[in-house]
Amino acid sequence: MATAITSSPATPEKITPGVGSGSLLSLASWVEAQTGQPFWRCYQCRKCSGGCPVAFSMDILPHQIIRYLQLGLGSELLSSQSIWNCTGCQTCKSRCPNGIDISALNDALKVRALAQKPALDGQSQAVATFHQTFLDSIRGSGRVNELFMLLTYKLKTRNLWQDVSLGLAMLRRGKLRIWPQRIRGRGEIKELFKRSRLKPPGGPAALP
Ligand code: SF4
Ligand code: SF4
Repeated sequence: MATAITSSPATPEKITPGVGSGSLLSLASWVEAQTGQPFWRCYQCRKCSGGCPVAFSMDILPHQIIRYLQLGLGSELLSSQSIWNCTGCQTCKSRCPNGIDISALNDALKVRALAQKPALDGQSQAVATFHQTFLDSIRGSGRVNELFMLLTYKLKTRNLWQDVSLGLAMLRRGKLRIWPQRIRGRGEIKELFKRSRLKPPGGPAALP
């Protein structure tokens, strides 16, 4: 889907090296160590942004995410809507002449954002809370228990009564399980979470 990228609020004038967050230049090295993505090869052809299906909702477009990363604009990236609005569809990767997977970069940026807790707008905060609640559910039982996860999410966002009728209808039709199911390999899941927090070999910083 072609998207007009000239209307983004992130104009080139705003991308100034060293402004605001120059001390976070190491974020790029950290993301590189976590993802292995060759984002330094990006030459700003914008094919990723032209194909991104949710570019209309992004305050920093996909090709600009790369540029912000290269220029060390870490705090701007970590507080952006874009890293939370990315659906992980990988259209950008399929279009990129350098094979750069921007969704992988966004996943790493999410980890950093959850650790550093930058000020987010309401919508991005809701997505971040949902993301964390989802991960907590996986960490606890190895799979998602939708009812427990949604109740936890509603409590965290203090929005308990929204979608109650929909939830009750799903319960009646057996679409939501009341009792959580656990997988056998929970130890392996815990190990994966544990390993994701280790300092990568040669990496500039440990995972938060
Ligand atoms: S398609 Fe690839 S090379 Fe082109 S701007 Fe996007 S990330 Fe950079
Ligand atoms: S993976 Fe994310 S950034 Fe890439 S095209 Fe899909 S939504 Fe856009």
